Amino acid sequence: MPEHSNPELPPLPYDYDALEPSISEQVATWHHDTHHQGYVNGLESAEETLAENRESGDFGGSPGAIRSVTHNGSGHYLHTLFWDNMSPDGGGEPSGELADRIEEDFGSYEGWKGEFKAAAGAAGGWALLAYDPVADQLRNLVVDKHDQGALWGSHPILALDVWEHSYYYDYGPDRGDFIEGFFEVVDWKNVAHQYEKALQH
Ligand code: MN
Repeated sequence: MPEHSNPELPPLPYDYDALEPSISEQVATWHHDTHHQGYVNGLESAEETLAENRESGDFGGSPGAIRSVTHNGSGHYLHTLFWDNMSPDGGGEPSGELADRIEEDFGSYEGWKGEFKAAAGAAGGWALLAYDPVADQLRNLVVDKHDQGALWGSHPILALDVWEHSYYYDYGPDRGDFIEGFFEVVDWKNVAHQYEKALQH
């Protein structure tokens, strides 16, 4: 059987209270330690099921486990990006090549931001800024759950989690206030780094 390292929950790259008041210590703790951990566990469990099924030759449960890999793996990867995209020193606007690219592909930063906020308001999961290497352009994506709305081949570089567990405790039903709070902590240096990595894929 091929050996793979088990998926692991990366620690938050800052203290649990570091993103206050945009994200409270309580929500960061639940969101990271319970929700994100749950996706890591679900991915590991699905991979174990697939390995057992290959061993036994009984593939009856494999399609369900493959769907679980997609759901939990997407949840794990997007949460990791979401945490990395934020910093207590965040906020402001992008600069350098990323800023130029946003202007080129969306007309202006405000044009991009308005579209991204509308995507975040409508999504049943995530709003993403992604680099699409086929068209060679940045695109906003509206994602339901963790994977419905994915564009094959595109690489997310900025992820905003708009599941209710992400904001309800802090903001109630006012998702728009949470989206504004997110922009106070977006780490544009990290987004630029994700963009550079996406260009190399
Ligand atoms: Mn979440």
